[in-house]
Amino acid sequence: VQSAVYEPLTEQKATALAVRLGLFRDGAPLLCREIGDGNLNLVFHIVDQETKQGIIIKQALPYAKVVGESWPLTLKRAVIESNALRTFASYVPQYVPNVYYSDESLAITVMEDLSHLQIARKGLIEGKTYPLLSRHIGEFIAKTAFYTSDFGMNQQEKKKLAQSFVNPELCKITEDLVFTDPFFDHDTNNFEDELRPDVEALWEDDRLRLEAAKLKRKFLTEADVLLHGDLHTGSIFASDDETKVIDPEFAFYGPIGFDLGQFFANLLLNALSRPESERRPLFDHIDQTWDVFTSVFSELWRTESVETYAATPGLLDEVLRQAFVDAVGFAGCEVIRRTIGLAHVADLDGIDQKVERLTAKRHALRLGRRLIVERAELAGTDGFRRLFVETE
Ligand code: ADP
Ligand code: MG
Ligand code: MG
Ligand code: MG
Repeated sequence: VQSAVYEPLTEQKATALAVRLGLFRDGAPLLCREIGDGNLNLVFHIVDQETKQGIIIKQALPYAKVVGESWPLTLKRAVIESNALRTFASYVPQYVPNVYYSDESLAITVMEDLSHLQIARKGLIEGKTYPLLSRHIGEFIAKTAFYTSDFGMNQQEKKKLAQSFVNPELCKITEDLVFTDPFFDHDTNNFEDELRPDVEALWEDDRLRLEAAKLKRKFLTEADVLLHGDLHTGSIFASDDETKVIDPEFAFYGPIGFDLGQFFANLLLNALSRPESERRPLFDHIDQTWDVFTSVFSELWRTESVETYAATPGLLDEVLRQAFVDAVGFAGCEVIRRTIGLAHVADLDGIDQKVERLTAKRHALRLGRRLIVERAELAGTDGFRRLFVETE
């Protein structure tokens, strides 16, 4: 298959491409639908109507549609995404879709169809609890972080790998939307008028803005491990026994606590949308993610480190302590930006009753603020429960 000049695919062209790639048997009756829900990419689902076997073709668009406008956005993110999926697959093939093919000029990734699973955010909103979700995500983060760090990989190789994941345009989106805009009166922000006094209090909070700025600086400067970069519950497919991480177009080398923090935050956002009696599985998931992460990461550190200085007494403890503190702060930023920033979550926006919704959002703002400013004093994942209750 020769590579083509970029053009956005149609359902017809996506089907023809799948046939050219030999992904279906000859003469298979194929049905193709564009199922993308984002503003950045097309996602084609192509299924053989007889065998029911399917594939996914994801294609980056050269622009992002946001509040009716659009701005140019690099197609290189498709290469980042397919390379990240392949890199993750070399460590944890059980937690990512198989990539069958990718093409840089078309900005496409052709991958395993995961339609038998459900997007975790949707399932969590419906009340599913996914008992293995946090065990799997804790292991996913521990292994991908360790093996792409200077302790799991030769320093020369790591520098080269990090170079292939330089992703300035997508990082800029996070820098703006997660770490900057929500803390200023910026026009990308989006919130109900009733929240204005609460939001203005955040904008006048110098301590909060300083701590958010420190977290942003860390995000910008710390090239520690290969991150997914957008690990919210909408980037995870799940069932009672399987978990698959998708959509790593924001992947880059960054601070180890970032993916953990985004995942924690999205569990908290779901907890914020529920009555007290239904919150426990979310907090249990936070505990379990951290427990599995630390035990898997520590075991790899002890048994597979390529650096002799990894054995320095106290170093592993310091790495884990810092990862936790950072994760708590990043979680706070994510909770705030998903409440008042540009991109919201259905967990909170989907609360039908306005009074309840505003109450949950005010709670989110107080919780997010304290996670950021008190991140160094949390001590353990039980601290999430304590702050959640204290900010109710
Ligand atoms: P975006 O970067 O635009 O958010 P995603 O990779 O998150 O794109 O995909 C958007 C949606 O497309 C997902 O929420 C899911 O419904 C569907 N999708 C993506 N990848 C797959 C897959 N491998 N199998 C089945 N559905 C998928
Ligand atoms: Mg659509
Ligand atoms: Mg997505
Ligand atoms: Mg995406």
